Parts: sequence; C-alpha cells; structure tokens
Amino acid sequence: MTKPAQVLVVAPHPDDSEFGVAGTVARWTREGKDVVYVVCTSGDKGTSDVNMKPEELAKIREQEQLAAAKVLGVREVVFLRHPDQGIEDTPEFRKELVRLIRKYRPGTVVTADPYRRYIWHRDHRITGQVVLDAIFPYARDYHAYPDLIQEGLQPHKVREVLLWGAEDPNYRSNITDTFDTKLAALSCHKSQVGDNPVHGLVERLRERAKMMAQGENYELAEAFHRVEILY
Ligand SMILES: [Zn+2]
Repeated sequence: MTKPAQVLVVAPHPDDSEFGVAGTVARWTREGKDVVYVVCTSGDKGTSDVNMKPEELAKIREQEQLAAAKVLGVREVVFLRHPDQGIEDTPEFRKELVRLIRKYRPGTVVTADPYRRYIWHRDHRITGQVVLDAIFPYARDYHAYPDLIQEGLQPHKVREVLLWGAEDPNYRSNITDTFDTKLAALSCHKSQVGDNPVHGLVERLRERAKMMAQGENYELAEAFHRVEILY
C-alpha cells in the first residue's frame, strides 16, 4: 500500500511547479503535509541550444527537478516521460492520472489552469484539462476502470483543486516566509533559469508575488483559481 499524500502536484514540465506553487508547497511541507510531484514530460525540447540532444536535456531536467523537490521537502517525484510538446488528451493519459490519484489519495490536487486564454503552452492547457477529467468523474467512479479495482485502487474523491496561471484567481496563499525557498528551488533548474536571475527574474517574481498579496495582511502570495468539489 502506498502511503497517501495530502497534496498531489501535477506539472506539465520540470520547473512549472516551482513557478506556480513552490512557495505554497514549502509552507505545506513545513506544516508537516505530505506532497508528491507528478511531472508529465521531462521538458526535452525546452532549450534554444541547438547542440543539446533532447534525451540528454531530459536527464538534466529530471535531476534538476529532483533537486528542487528536495529543497521544498517534497516526498516523491513521479516522472511520466510523455514527449515534450506532445501531451495529448488520450484515454491512456487520463487513466495514468486516475491511477496516481487513486494511489496517493490526495485531498488537494494542484495543476495548470487549462482555461487561460489565447497564448498558453499546449502542454499546460491539455495537462490541466486531463487532470480535471481524471479527478471527476473518473477517479470517483467505481465502474470507470474495473482493472484498477482489481489492482486494489479504489475510487477516490479529491476535495479541492488549485490551478496556477489562472486569469481569474480567487484564492491567495501566503508565501512571505517561503518566498526564498521558492527561489532556491527555482535556482535548481539551472538549464532553464540559469542566467535569468541577473536579468531580473527574482525582481519580477517578487513584484508579482507582491501584486498577488494586495489587500491581504501579508506581503507575498501565490494566486490560484480554487475549485472545491462537492460530491
Ligand atoms: Zn511548462
């Protein structure tokens, strides 16, 4: 039996979780919550270096993701190794996610908002959408996958979904005390953000976190569209 996790974070690529939710994850793990990461692709096309081989890049990015997860106190990272820029809404992908939801039995799932309009990475849009479908109704329904029941993976009801990248955030999370940990986790993704800090990434992230916290009685926030699921 896999030990349940309170939170399952499903990211299209390595580093998405760090940009989207790492400050909140750091707070949760400090509070003693069990967090598991699922990374759908290994980000093997995310470079402008024409000499970098995709399989080499995938290895580097998985290592970077593991390092970032360690900084945040994430219990486990599951790599699904779908092709970068090749995530599709297939029955197989949906079932893969249902299997993980039933295995880890999280109360909260965090992923990319699929409903951000216009320019939005296709992998983000599709991952978010398939995660929502997997949560409801597929993870919930006993008869959805008889073979998963055979494997001992009983239906599970996720209670809450947090979507990062939302155009209409309705939920803010205080990351004032964990903002530096978020930065430390982000800096593990050297192949992605290596030179960025000198180009103002830290300042931009801080400005954004400040903006997200406007009207709250704390300084820095991550913002999400939160959906509570009533069954
Ligand atoms: Zn991404």
